[in-house]
Amino acid sequence: MNKNLIKDHKQIGIEQELFFTSEYAPGAPFWLPKGMIIFKELEKFIRKLTEKAGYQETSTPIMVKTKIFKESGHWENFGEEAMYNLADYETEQIQELDAILQSEQETKKIIKAFEDSHNGKAPILAAFDLHGEIPLKNGEIIETIVTCTKGADGRYFFNRTLKPNLTLKPMNCPESTVLYRFRPRSYKELPLRLSEIGRLHRREQSGEINGLLRVRQITMDDAHVFTTDEQILSEVKSILDMMISFYDSFGFKYEFMLATRPEVFAGDEENWKTAEKDLEEALKSRELKYTMKEKEGAFYGPKIDVHIKDALGRDWQLATVQLDFHMPAAFDLKYVDQEGKQKRPVMIHRAIFGSFERFTAILTEHYVGAFPIWLSPVQVVLIPISERHVEAVEKMAEELRKENIRVEVDSRSETMQAKIRQATLQKVPYMGIIGDKEINDRIISVRTREGKDLGQLNLSHFVKRVKQEIDQKV
Ligand SMILES: [Zn+2]
Repeated sequence: MNKNLIKDHKQIGIEQELFFTSEYAPGAPFWLPKGMIIFKELEKFIRKLTEKAGYQETSTPIMVKTKIFKESGHWENFGEEAMYNLADYETEQIQELDAILQSEQETKKIIKAFEDSHNGKAPILAAFDLHGEIPLKNGEIIETIVTCTKGADGRYFFNRTLKPNLTLKPMNCPESTVLYRFRPRSYKELPLRLSEIGRLHRREQSGEINGLLRVRQITMDDAHVFTTDEQILSEVKSILDMMISFYDSFGFKYEFMLATRPEVFAGDEENWKTAEKDLEEALKSRELKYTMKEKEGAFYGPKIDVHIKDALGRDWQLATVQLDFHMPAAFDLKYVDQEGKQKRPVMIHRAIFGSFERFTAILTEHYVGAFPIWLSPVQVVLIPISERHVEAVEKMAEELRKENIRVEVDSRSETMQAKIRQATLQKVPYMGIIGDKEINDRIISVRTREGKDLGQLNLSHFVKRVKQEIDQKV
């Protein structure tokens, strides 16, 4: 395929009215009705796979107290600036220089620090931690940060930001432990597989956000499995099976990477060794080729990353299975074993395609907008040859809709050629051209978006063929 002919997903998203981004919400796409069909089909597919594999779907709050990420260790490891902070902040601007400052001395100190930090070059923002915390009546503590801006007239302005100690979650993991801790757990409940199509927010820099490929608002096909040590192997095998069946249906080639214990790690060495062996054995049992990434595991456990290659030969890391010894300890997760003793479960994080946004962008470019029929927002366009056929064609469309086929009738007063061209540009898999003969004989003249003429097909045969292709995800 010639790379120069390839449109990017943003362009296709607009041409086919799937999705777009707007200055009103940088890094968070708007999904149009047709794009939402793709989103929902992916959702249906992943739900079917997870239900079959024994997962139970959950939902955890999008906005949570920051303390949960402090308890999990994420806050410290990923940093406030890197991931979090897209929370509901209240900012008030204090125009008067002395409005919030206690004394002249304090004012002078701040202005000096501001000037020192910029060497007189004066970028417009500097931050000062003027006050630590404000306690509220309900026991909550609100942090404040004061930022200082130098205006064009040389005056200084101060903004006071109140941090209500809430954040938009950048990941679901710690909250899934809250679900686990809802009540005491028994070994009989393990493996406990909790899935969540969770909406996450991450603080990507504005220069890095790119259509649906790199976003600030992410919808993730996430899951956390709580298991005993003995169940790790069978659980990872089952996750690999889900990945294979998912990626095979898109015709992607995949590659597995096994990342092992880094220099700095949580948990004990014995557990790591067994876990790494389990991951390796799971890969071998499915006869999957894999590359070792020595010492590249997460600090909390070894992992398998899955890379796919798209139609342009580009490499994407999508799926992941990560074992976690750290979080069960950080949140003191337990289960009661057969002998009535308290034990620590292992946590497995897994995602099959990662993010709906990123995966849709990859699919859009991989298929150059010609989605397989099960994902196509419009599967069939019916084209009446003339005005007087419209009514009969609408009735035919109704029959197709009853069979759950997504069909549109192009009843515009355009030439037939123009309508065929439009449907081809919109990458609709099938076009059915219908005139007198077709209506009388209940047949349909079918063309594909590739320009192939399939001739006249009996209406019921055509319906059967389309339904079969949808079911088989052709
Ligand atoms: Zn997780």
